[in-house]
Amino acid sequence: MIKLYNSLTRKLENFIPIHTPKVGMYTCGPTVYSYASIGNFRTYTLSDLLLRVLQNNGFQVTYIMNFTDVGHLSGDNLGDADTGEDRMAQSAAKEHRSMWDIADGYIEAFKGDFNDLNLVTPTKFVRATDHVKEQIDLAQALDERGYLYRTSDGMYFDTSKFTPRDRLSTLDAKGIRPGARVKLSPEKKNPTDFAIWKFASNDRQEMTWDSPWGKGFPGWHLECSAMSMKYLGETFDLHLGGEDLASTHHPNEIIQSEAVTGKLFVKYWIHGAFMLVDGGRMGKSLGNAYTIGDVKEKGFNPLALRYLYLTAHYRDQLNFTWQSLQGAQTALEKLYDFVVKFRHSPGAQRTVLSEEKLAKVNQFSLRFNAAIENDLGFPQAMAVLWSMIKSNIPSEDKYDLLLDFDRVLGLKLAEAKPKELQELPKEIADMVAQRRQFREQGRWLEADIIRKDINKAGFEVKDSTSGTQVEKIVSPKTVGKGRYFKGKS
Ligand code: AMP
Ligand code: ZN
Repeated sequence: MIKLYNSLTRKLENFIPIHTPKVGMYTCGPTVYSYASIGNFRTYTLSDLLLRVLQNNGFQVTYIMNFTDVGHLSGDNLGDADTGEDRMAQSAAKEHRSMWDIADGYIEAFKGDFNDLNLVTPTKFVRATDHVKEQIDLAQALDERGYLYRTSDGMYFDTSKFTPRDRLSTLDAKGIRPGARVKLSPEKKNPTDFAIWKFASNDRQEMTWDSPWGKGFPGWHLECSAMSMKYLGETFDLHLGGEDLASTHHPNEIIQSEAVTGKLFVKYWIHGAFMLVDGGRMGKSLGNAYTIGDVKEKGFNPLALRYLYLTAHYRDQLNFTWQSLQGAQTALEKLYDFVVKFRHSPGAQRTVLSEEKLAKVNQFSLRFNAAIENDLGFPQAMAVLWSMIKSNIPSEDKYDLLLDFDRVLGLKLAEAKPKELQELPKEIADMVAQRRQFREQGRWLEADIIRKDINKAGFEVKDSTSGTQVEKIVSPKTVGKGRYFKGKS
């Protein structure tokens, strides 16, 4: 039984879907005005891990993620998401491109990063601007029920008129963090009220639509209610996001959805803790909102970042440093080396296991699954993985277990190559692979001829019990020229 911490009830609960084995899951996706940061991707990796755990348990998941390409205002940073400018418009002005161009470009970039992290593509990616009609319909239903009022800049939800079943927010009744730098709109009737529809100012040329209340664009929260209910129904199982969304965006989604349907909106709310950088906040203005592009530029495998995410529980903050990423990459490479070693282990035929050993193999599987099913305990699961690798069960079982674990870990273990093959020129890598094949077939003479050829090409082959290492032969002359006498020749 999968257990998850539900922010709505603030309890660890058994996960029981509404229409088992079908599961509906919605994740608040990126605002596509810029590249997503490695902090954002911690939250999307959380969704991915939950999706994989659910699928691993036989559930059929409909997984929806949105792209916010309109209406997320800059005032959000200061605690009032109804003030400030549309981030898409700000970005368009800065980059001298249209808002549509900005959205298209960063959506493509996001999908590329998504792929690099081996995140499973959702059943559907949905764009806010493709669902303006659904948003207007929802706003109209709210208006008909008397929940909206007009101010000079938009239509607002009067939060004093409806109390949802559960309060997700941990904030006080007024909904505003004490001491927050908030300059609330004086026209709001209650501090917790929020914009459903914003009127377009005269200088806004793009991304405005006609509506019963005048030309404008939807408020940020509206899109997630409209799109999640369209694809998953009025009540669905899971809704995810980063911890910041638990205080405003998600409570607003709940109130506006339940005010219309009169039903529970979402059964389980899952919130991921933030990723910090050097112990502090990650922010564009601080210059430390690193991207997947930055990770790759520094020579890291993006899956090393995925490994790093796995080392912390999703409800604990995770501190990012380049050193911690280096540590994760080293661990991942070690893991790949083990996979290769177990894959090529002698005795391709399975040994018949004693009952005791069989129980031990099964134990690792049980312990791994128990960890991930207990509120996604991936750090514990990784500890089980490493103790399994170090155990005395047969290599072929280790190999099978690793591939089995990787269905949820997503580290591409099946594609693991020996370290030396990852960095070598292609022709040398081919020779190394050929030599390995000869050695496995006991054709020692031919293997040795290849070793000499590799040597002539400037690489040295070193065999040891832990595998084969291939290194470039560095002559003193090259060292002198290339490394110590830079610039002189
Ligand atoms: P945004 O693009 O700002 O709408 O954020 C997209 C998602 O990333 C939301 O679920 C946020 O809660 C989440 N998020 C933002 N910053 C971080 C961070 N530093 N660590 C983890 N998740 C984050
Ligand atoms: Zn959302």
